[in-house]
Parts: sequence; C-alpha cells; structure tokens
Amino acid sequence: QAELKLHQLQVSAGGTPILNGVSLDIKGGEVHAIMGPNGTGKSTLSLALMGHPRYEVTGGSATLDGQDLLAMKVDERARAGLFLAMQYPSEIAGVSNANFLRTAVNARQPDGKEIGVLPFRKQLEAEMASLGIESKFADRYLNEGFSGGEKKRNEILQLAMLKPRIAILDEIDSGLDIDALKVVAQAVNSLRSPQMGVLIITHYQRLLEYIAPDHVHVLIGGRIVKSGGKELAQELEAKGYDWLKPQDPADP
Ligand code: ADP
Ligand code: MG
Ligand code: MG
Repeated sequence: QAELKLHQLQVSAGGTPILNGVSLDIKGGEVHAIMGPNGTGKSTLSLALMGHPRYEVTGGSATLDGQDLLAMKVDERARAGLFLAMQYPSEIAGVSNANFLRTAVNARQPDGKEIGVLPFRKQLEAEMASLGIESKFADRYLNEGFSGGEKKRNEILQLAMLKPRIAILDEIDSGLDIDALKVVAQAVNSLRSPQMGVLIITHYQRLLEYIAPDHVHVLIGGRIVKSGGKELAQELEAKGYDWLKPQDPADP
C-alpha cells in the first residue's frame, strides 16, 4: 500500500521559515485535502516534497513507502511514484506531449523495460478518449498555447498515464469553469484506488463537492491548525478561515 508520511516537516524559502512543522499520513486509497488562505505555505509544501531547489527542508522527515524522500533527487522522487500537478504548469518548447509522457512513463517502469511506441500510443489514445481530449493534442508541444482548462486536463492525463503512488494536485481547480471542473473531478475519482493516495490542495471548497475527501486539513501560518472529515470543508465555506487563525495575545 502506498504511503506518504510527513513528521514535523519544516521548510524555509529564501531563508524565511514557511512551514513550521507539518505532519501528515496519506495512505493508498485515501484522498486528503489541504485548505487554507493564500500565502500560508500550501504550494511550498508540494514543491518542497518534489525537491524544488528553492525550498530548503530545515527539520522533520518525509517518507514515501517507507523510503526517505528527502534523501532522493528530484528525478528519483518522480520515479519512486510522487506526482505533482501544479497551479501553473510550465511550457516545454519542442517536446511533444506524447514524447514527454512516454519518457516519463518509461522512467517509471520498475524493471527498466520500456513500453514500445505502438502499445504506448494505444494506451495514450484510450486515456485521452476517456478524458474527452482530442487526439491531435498528443502531438502538440507540451503546454505551449494550451488554454487553462487544457493544461489542467493534460495534467490529469499525465496522472492517468503515470499511475503514481502519491498524487499531489495543487489548485488544479483554479481557472476552471464548472464543466471543466467536473471533467477533472470525475477523472480523479475514476483513478481512485488502493494503489494511489491523493493530496488535493485547494483554496475553495468547490472542487471538494465533486471529489469527496476522506480527510480535510487546514493549513494556516505554516501549520495544520485543524483536521476533520469532509464536513470541515463545508464549514470553511460557510465561516471562512478567520476563526481558525491563531490569536495574537498583544492584539485581542
Ligand atoms: P500558498 O500556496 O498557500 O498560497 P505559498 O506556499 O505559495 O502559499 O507561499 C507561502 C509564503 O512563502 C508566502 O508568504 C510566499 O511569499 C513565501 N514564498 C514562497 N516561495 C518563496 C520563495 N521562493 N522565496 C521566498 N518566499 C517564498
Ligand atoms: Mg496561492
Ligand atoms: Mg499555492
């Protein structure tokens, strides 16, 4: 069973502490959501876990399937099955979507055995069809000129093809209209399985109406200040975040 375990993780960016001890235990088959206001460190958490060089882990631990994630290089983390769909996916000029995906899928083959071009293409076309993505999309350059909705759908295609152990989805709902949101949510739901744990990072409760999380955590000031079930997301929608902000004793 897949498992991502964080214990008291502390992360700094540019010398400033952003995460001040985050603990989480995400198992295969579970969907966790991290919610919180802007600027509380949600993206810092996802980027630090992927090994982004701008984020320095200053304390605590992170393991993926029992292995020390923090000791792995970026490509090793991806190969070990950690996947991040980002708020702002980047363009890769000159690399077609299909080639990018095939390289990534082959890197994930445990025995180093590459998938042939034709079987890969077949699998890709089947996944694209089920996501309602046009087939010419496979041969376009990665993210170049993609609309916001196309980028998000494409990230879900990557997710479907790569079959990660742990998938982190950072604000995949931002900029999506309701129809695109439903497509993305339905795709994530269809990929739910004991082999994969999911961490959804979102500012709004809207996405969680379509992907019911098992656990909801509120991140404020670089700490998880409250955890609960999916009803916590509804409570946040109704009450906002202010009631959970730590009180400043000097300013009652
Ligand atoms: P969220 O995703 O919750 O909106 P972020 O993780 O993007 O929040 O940012 C959390 C805080 O860390 C913000 O105050 C932001 O300005 C700061 N921060 C993020 N990345 C960097 C960086 N590379 N260098 C310095 N500060 C950063
Ligand atoms: Mg933000
Ligand atoms: Mg963010």
